[in-house]
Amino acid sequence: MTTLRLIYLITLVMTVGVSYAEKPKPYVIVIDAGHGGTDPGALGCFTTEKDINLAIAKKLGNLLTATFPDVKVIYTRSTDVFVKIRDRMQKAKDVNADLFISIHCNSAAKENPNRTSLSGTSVYILGNENTDKNLSVVMAENAAILLEDDYKTKYQGFDNSPEQYIFMEICQSKMVGKSIELAEKVQSQLVKHAGLRDNKVRQTQAIWLVLHSTMPLIFLEVDFICNPEREKYMASETGQRKIAEAVVNGIAAYRNTKITLPKPTTPDAPQSPEVREPEKAQPTPSPTQTSSDPTYHIQIFVAADQLQANSPKFKGLTPAHYYRDGSAYKYYYGSYPTQDAARKALPEVKRLFPDAFVITMQEGKRIK
Ligand SMILES: [Zn+2]
Repeated sequence: MTTLRLIYLITLVMTVGVSYAEKPKPYVIVIDAGHGGTDPGALGCFTTEKDINLAIAKKLGNLLTATFPDVKVIYTRSTDVFVKIRDRMQKAKDVNADLFISIHCNSAAKENPNRTSLSGTSVYILGNENTDKNLSVVMAENAAILLEDDYKTKYQGFDNSPEQYIFMEICQSKMVGKSIELAEKVQSQLVKHAGLRDNKVRQTQAIWLVLHSTMPLIFLEVDFICNPEREKYMASETGQRKIAEAVVNGIAAYRNTKITLPKPTTPDAPQSPEVREPEKAQPTPSPTQTSSDPTYHIQIFVAADQLQANSPKFKGLTPAHYYRDGSAYKYYYGSYPTQDAARKALPEVKRLFPDAFVITMQEGKRIK
C-alpha cells in the first residue's frame, strides 16, 4: 500500500513536471503598424497612414487574442513613435514569431490623375517579380529607412534607388510558400468579409527579405488613402473592425482552425461615407478593453445622473460613454489610437462643447 502510494506520488509529480515542461509555446504573431512618429506614411484628406495603420493594428491584436486562446500578439509599435525598420525586424526575430503582419495604406503619386478614385486591396508577399509598379510601392514603403540617421551603415549603403532592389539577393525558402498561402487566405477575406475591391496578391521586393527567411511575412496595402471615400472607410470604426476581422478569418483559414469572431464591444456605425457620423447607442460605461494599451477620448461634460442615449444634452455626439468619478458621470466621446489623433479631432468637438478636452483611458479607467 505504501509502495503503491509512493508510486502514485512519483507518477503525479512526474506528470505535473512533464506538463509544466511541455506547456505549449504560444503562437506568436507580430503586428507591425507601418510608419509612425516623424514618418507619417501616405497622407489622406483628414488623416495620415500612420494613424490608420496603428488603429487597425490594435483592433487586429485585440481581436486575435480574443479569438485564439494560444495566440500571443507582439506589436512593433503601440503608440505614435518612429521605429526603425531594422528594430521592427529584430523584435520579430527576438520573439521567434510565427507570423509577421505589416499594415499599410496604399497611395498613388500626386501626378496620377485618377488617384482620388483608385481603390482596392492587395496583400503583398516578398518575391522576385520585378515590375516598375511594384518597385514604386516598395520604394515608398522603404523610404522610412532614409529617416534613420545611421541608415547608411546599418543597411550597408541602402539608398532606396531602383538599382538597390534589382541587385538585392532574393532569399528563397519554404517560408515563401507559407507566405503565399497566408496572403491568399487573407486577401480573399479582405474582399469577402471587408468588402474591399480585389487587387490580388502581389509580389514585392524589400529590405524585409532578411526576415522572410525565418517566418511567413505579409504586407497589407489595405486600400487607397488618396481616395477620400476609401480613407473614410479605413478611418471608421466599422471599416477598421471589418478589416481586422477579415485578417483574423484569413489567419484562421491558414491555420486550419475553426473560430467564432467575438461580438463588437461598440455598435457598428453605418457603412456609408458618413461613417464618422454619430452612431445610435445607449450611453454605456467605458467598454472593457482587452489590451492594456491606453486609448484617447474627448471628455465633453459632467452630469449628476445617467442620461438617455438620445438625450439632447449630447448635441448629437453619440455614442458617448462615461466613467464614474465619485457620484458624477463624466461623459466622453470618440476613441483615438493616439493623443495626436484625439487632439486633431478636438476643435470639431469644441464647437459644440467649448470646455471639451482630451483624456486618456486605460482598462476602463481614466489615467492622468
Ligand atoms: Zn506604408
